[in-house]
Amino acid sequence: MDRKNAWNKYDDEGRERIFSFADSYKNFISECKTERECVKEAVRLAEESGYKNLFDVINNNERLEAGDKVYAVNKEKAIVLFSLGKEPMENGLNILGAHIDSPRLDIKQNPLYEDSGLVLMDTHYYGGIKKYQWVAMPMALHGIVALKDGTSVEICIGEKSDEPVVGISDLLIHLAAEQMNKKADKVIEGEDLNVLVGSMPAKRDNDGESADDLKSDVDAEDTNKDKASEKDAVKAHILSLLKERYGIEEEDFLSAELCVVPAGPARDYGIDRSMVIGYGHDDRVCAYPSLIAQLESENPEKTSVCILVDKEEIGSVGATGMHSRFFENMVAEVMDRSGQYSELKLRRALSNSNMLSSDVNSAYDPNYSNVNEKKNTAYFGKGVVFMKYTGSRGKSGSNDASAEYLGKLRKIMDDNDVAFQTAELGRVDLGGGGTIAYILANYGMNVIDSGVGVQNMHAPYEVISKVDLYEAYLSYKAFLKDA
Ligand code: MN
Ligand code: MN
Repeated sequence: MDRKNAWNKYDDEGRERIFSFADSYKNFISECKTERECVKEAVRLAEESGYKNLFDVINNNERLEAGDKVYAVNKEKAIVLFSLGKEPMENGLNILGAHIDSPRLDIKQNPLYEDSGLVLMDTHYYGGIKKYQWVAMPMALHGIVALKDGTSVEICIGEKSDEPVVGISDLLIHLAAEQMNKKADKVIEGEDLNVLVGSMPAKRDNDGESADDLKSDVDAEDTNKDKASEKDAVKAHILSLLKERYGIEEEDFLSAELCVVPAGPARDYGIDRSMVIGYGHDDRVCAYPSLIAQLESENPEKTSVCILVDKEEIGSVGATGMHSRFFENMVAEVMDRSGQYSELKLRRALSNSNMLSSDVNSAYDPNYSNVNEKKNTAYFGKGVVFMKYTGSRGKSGSNDASAEYLGKLRKIMDDNDVAFQTAELGRVDLGGGGTIAYILANYGMNVIDSGVGVQNMHAPYEVISKVDLYEAYLSYKAFLKDA
């Protein structure tokens, strides 16, 4: 049984719509490379669509009713949005979920050091990566530095075309005889993912004093120490630039979250422009269309919900991951504000819900065809992917969606002319993966893994098909309307 090619559904006008949706998506993922940036943009788009901050609603003791739209942000790294439906919430919610964290390199808390006139920053990688892929390419620094006075400084270096980038070196092939014999997971080791950020000492004036030191208000004693030590002159210069541009000092790295991510925008891929290459399609290629479908859900029958969470790449842990009680608490708050809350009704709302837990799937790649079983593989161009189960070694750790729920979804997709395919992640016993699906399924709700096929998953640049992105968006809209 073969699934149809989704492109064939579309005439010129239809293809135009797909390309224009992909353009908006490219802008989103080019601007928003961290969970914090995604949340900030989601709030902006939500407010533009008439969403109110749930915490304002609570503080002002306002009531909510059908047709109202609210959002709640969890520690700047996760967000949940509600478009209140006509039916009581205890009948169940229609929930879209995706994650907005992506694999990357996090700057350590004490990162800066100078070695032979070069200044580097130590990193600890985040999520599962092939480390050898993250070297010898332009990288950008994104994140925040929290100061002791309670304010934060936002940092983004390396995205505009006239801004500098940073990066991690690789060994020249000429001297790589030993390296080339190493196993792939040892070619570049985690502790060697050090980012080069500078190589120039501060300019000296005629008295032999650093001109930058005179300008900056670095503590005089430190300045003298730095001058005395030629060895740290480059690091001192970097610190003085950071002080001048961002008002931060070396100790402020202790309370910073800085991420090293591939620099530059997402781009069209293929001579026919049918695909997009970019950083972090996993999982913003599901988060973005979920968010847009949610924002377009007005006066639904059942309450529409969109959850965008952090920390999926490291196990959905922590206060901002899916395991956090934040989502459940916010459902309770919305029920309370709309006069529907009781502990029992909350539990009913959750267990009666339907969810599309969206995450990327591995798209068939002719270069690596042997990792798939071809009948049960996701393909570029065949639409949104439903994965009944994920897991590894006998479905272990998987949310195995029920046949009945899949039956219901097939009808919704067919009724709304959405192209979909079914798949599992690779051949049996070859590997596997997990998502946030099983966590929500703990409430007893219907959950299925769905999403978009990706090539090069977890590489600095991943690839998706524009029509699959568009079909995902259509599937989310159909789901919120009809589930
Ligand atoms: Mn993912
Ligand atoms: Mn992932």
